Amino acid sequence: MRRLLQHAPLIALAVAATLAAARPPQERVLVLEGVRIIDGTGRPPIERGTIIIKGDRIQDAGPADAVSVPHDAERIDVAGRTVIPGLIDLHFHIEDDPKLALRQLSHGVTSFRDPGQWNEKFVELRRIIAADDLPGPRIFTAGPHIDGEHPAYPADSVVARDPEEARREAEINVREGASALKIYFRLPFASAQAVIAVCNAHHIPCTAHLEILDARELIDAGLQGIEHITSFGTSIVSRRTAQAYRQAVLADNNARRFGRYNLFAGADLDGQEARALYDALKARRPWVDPTLAVFERRAGQPVEGATREQVPTMVEGFAKMKALTRRVALAGARIVMGGHSTVPYATRGEAPWRELELLVESGFTPLEAITAGTSAGAGFLYRADDLGAIRPSFRADLVVLRDNPERNIGAVRTVERVMVGGRWVDVSRYRTY
Ligand SMILES: [Zn+2]
Repeated sequence: MRRLLQHAPLIALAVAATLAAARPPQERVLVLEGVRIIDGTGRPPIERGTIIIKGDRIQDAGPADAVSVPHDAERIDVAGRTVIPGLIDLHFHIEDDPKLALRQLSHGVTSFRDPGQWNEKFVELRRIIAADDLPGPRIFTAGPHIDGEHPAYPADSVVARDPEEARREAEINVREGASALKIYFRLPFASAQAVIAVCNAHHIPCTAHLEILDARELIDAGLQGIEHITSFGTSIVSRRTAQAYRQAVLADNNARRFGRYNLFAGADLDGQEARALYDALKARRPWVDPTLAVFERRAGQPVEGATREQVPTMVEGFAKMKALTRRVALAGARIVMGGHSTVPYATRGEAPWRELELLVESGFTPLEAITAGTSAGAGFLYRADDLGAIRPSFRADLVVLRDNPERNIGAVRTVERVMVGGRWVDVSRYRTY
């Protein structure tokens, strides 16, 4: 003890030196003036707005006359532009293409979640981000998705044969960094319940690709999110029709490729099954990530892997998928945006934009679509308190658009600048990725 006291002045000096070194440099204050602000919450745009950014956060945002600009702020000339929060893509598959995440970043996607993948697949992306000293994109992972025997995607999943195995795999995913878990459709109901219980214990969302699992049962069991509007297929047809589809998919996972369009084409969105689904959604308000873009089929255009005779049914089924997306939202589901990386009618890195356009085609206003792609997505990440909106104290993840998307959602494609955590991204560089 005495010896320690003897050294006390030295220790104090060392502590002071450490503190000085750790203190961040004077935080830069940026101001974006004369911009239209679409804040991501669904509120009407602010026409002549000011946004103040200090460090990695939004310090203030609002109408020009309500925001005072600090004298030392650095002014950014973006007058006449529209600023929206950075987009959140909740269904991005990295696969073997880490550069795609950076191309999407240049398109305004500042956060993404991969719903089912091994951590090893993100090593290269994280390496590039570190090497380029990039502030983003923010990466959210779920670990490999949890499926039953004969999994649909063996390379991206772990197989659980009973609830105890499901619980163990879920716990391992969480321990290894998953901030969500995903149930896959061959997992039996009791095992799915075990995964939901793990999510609730760790306060992370549980999502699912249902397909042949029953949506109402799982929503009632506490499932927080649903991937793909097609997850509701067996919930909107008769029990007998649903059972035939279920058995076909259990016998062959590929039966779902055309089968789901067939199921939707024949579904009645006002039938008793659909109405029971809407009631369940109204009670629980889960997040629904429709991923419409991956299912888009157009009349008169050939579809890979389908016969010419199948195309009209697929077109009809897709129209019904869009209609159901609107119906589940009206019933209370919280719609989010998932681009699904590679989709038929979007070029590289543009799937999130296509998804927003398809939401508008489904009956949402452009502002509602932007909310799906921003604050609703943040809610599904359990980050509604600091991501996805242009509000004081939120992370400064912003997209500067040349055109106004309020009436034409296609304007989300006119990205001029992207900011993550208060830092601009070199958009032109990552556009080439
Ligand atoms: Zn997927």
